[in-house]
Amino acid sequence: MNLVLFGPPGAGKGTQSKILTEKRGLPQLSTGDMLRAAIEAGTPLGLSVKATMAKGELVSDETVVRIIGERYDQPDCKNGAVFDGFPRTIPQAEALDRMLAERGRKIDLVLELKVDDAVLLSRVEARIKAGGVLRSDDTPETLAHRLGVYYRNTAPLIDFYRGQGKLKTVDGMAPVEAVTGQIAAVLDGIPA
Ligand code: ADP
Repeated sequence: MNLVLFGPPGAGKGTQSKILTEKRGLPQLSTGDMLRAAIEAGTPLGLSVKATMAKGELVSDETVVRIIGERYDQPDCKNGAVFDGFPRTIPQAEALDRMLAERGRKIDLVLELKVDDAVLLSRVEARIKAGGVLRSDDTPETLAHRLGVYYRNTAPLIDFYRGQGKLKTVDGMAPVEAVTGQIAAVLDGIPA
């Protein structure tokens, strides 16, 4: 099964992807994690995306499509994957459809985590108050920018996937376990 977890920055895609990985054995393919790992490792890819990510801008479609393609061809994706933070633009979604079609596969389901802007902002503020290690793009100012990017570039995917009949929406403002429960209910209603 190939799933896309979709939603604004801070909606809880990473949290729910990790739970899906544990419960369903589907690897989590997070472009954000992959890019942050490249920055951490100081690779040429990392160096080339560092400033873009810190500003909360999107990395090029070409770059993320390439890293997703390479990752998807690893053996652990033989039964599918959970895509987290990808696709983020219509061209990325089209490239993902093509990549899967070339492998005789498809996206089975797109789960939208719906969260209001005010709740996203209060989550960032809570993380800052709690202290600890923060991402360089996890500030109220950068979040506001990332949200703008989300509405401009990524939200149009809602209609793209609704048109394909693949979109299911869950309430991302519910407690984590309740969101997990809603996702499980959707998945269990889907033929394997
Ligand atoms: P969040 O969903 O909280 O914004 P991510 O970890 O998914 O966090 O993404 C962090 C940053 O990584 C984005 O702001 C962007 O710069 C870059 N990025 C991640 N995925 C993509 C993608 N699919 N396309 C372009 N840029 C991406």
